[in-house]
Amino acid sequence: MSAKPASQRSLPVVDGSVADAAVAAEAGRLADQAAGPRDIAAVRTLRVSVTDRCNLRCTYCMPAEGMKWIPKGDLLDFEEITRIARTAIDLGITNFKITGGEPLLRQQVEDLVAMLRALPGCGELSLTTNGILLAERAAGLRAAGIERVTVSLDTLRADRFRALTRTGHIERVWEGIAAAEAAGMTPLKINVVVLRDGNVDEVAAFADLTREHKRDVRFIEFMPLGQSKALTGADQFVPYAEIRGAIEAVHGPLVEAGRGVGHGPARHFRMAGARGRIGFIHAMSAPFCSTCNRLRLTPEGQLRSCLFDGGEVDLRPLVRGSLRADALRQAFVDCVRLKPDRHQMYGNRQMSQIGG
Ligand code: SF4
Repeated sequence: MSAKPASQRSLPVVDGSVADAAVAAEAGRLADQAAGPRDIAAVRTLRVSVTDRCNLRCTYCMPAEGMKWIPKGDLLDFEEITRIARTAIDLGITNFKITGGEPLLRQQVEDLVAMLRALPGCGELSLTTNGILLAERAAGLRAAGIERVTVSLDTLRADRFRALTRTGHIERVWEGIAAAEAAGMTPLKINVVVLRDGNVDEVAAFADLTREHKRDVRFIEFMPLGQSKALTGADQFVPYAEIRGAIEAVHGPLVEAGRGVGHGPARHFRMAGARGRIGFIHAMSAPFCSTCNRLRLTPEGQLRSCLFDGGEVDLRPLVRGSLRADALRQAFVDCVRLKPDRHQMYGNRQMSQIGG
């Protein structure tokens, strides 16, 4: 085992009163942003989910048993994904994030990475993973063309990790993080979904991970997607203002640190003297639809306009058999027009099917 959390000291229990009025007011201002762009020219990133399967069973994401997986024959193959990516690049969508489910469960996903990397005009290639298989795959992924990795990690405590994922060993994730950083996939991002009953007392300890390392730790408001709300059995939502307030109560005021690399949805801040950054993804308390620059491709070929409730366009008939290039381009344009003005507060698809 290698890297360890920088701090695991006990932290004060946090409640909504910690958040100061200025942060709450700022969240309100952000929530009033204008509707999302419906122009293909605004789209920069395609999130490509390569599988709905996962080697963990996070309690807010999947039931312990009985998931109905997409049949393997229905998954887009790597040639089909590459054709879609080529069209995306023609339209100016040059960045690709490989995701899942757990993308490292897709056999030889490194081959897909290399195929995308070889496309003329391909921009940033990144991957989101739960980290369990990352230690042995990091060097190969880097060699194939992945530049940066996002690791999902919702707790720093081994016992909680085991309970939250129902099966995982947190040591594997830290080994994966160390391997990814050693392979040069930096700055590494750590995504933390903040849960009222799960980890809200750990947010300041997570923030501490940015003190010595040039990492982005990003706090994500819990989003009720698919069965997630039913699975957790209680309202797990913790608003941005409260998360930030809990961090500032321990570490002092955060200073704005600009947009994320790749211009993703996070707003970034820095603790005084820290090397890394802290990000917030506040899709619930302050939707950022007006700055949305991404589309999503599901494993079976639906181009999805929004994580939550936007419409989808089926690309499979356009890439299976003889390629209909013009129709594929038009499908992208049509899909962006399906973006909602402002997303609803409930997602109609399971997170593991759309790559969170
Ligand atoms: S949240 Fe991510 S790691 Fe956890 S079960 Fe869902 S897809 Fe797997």
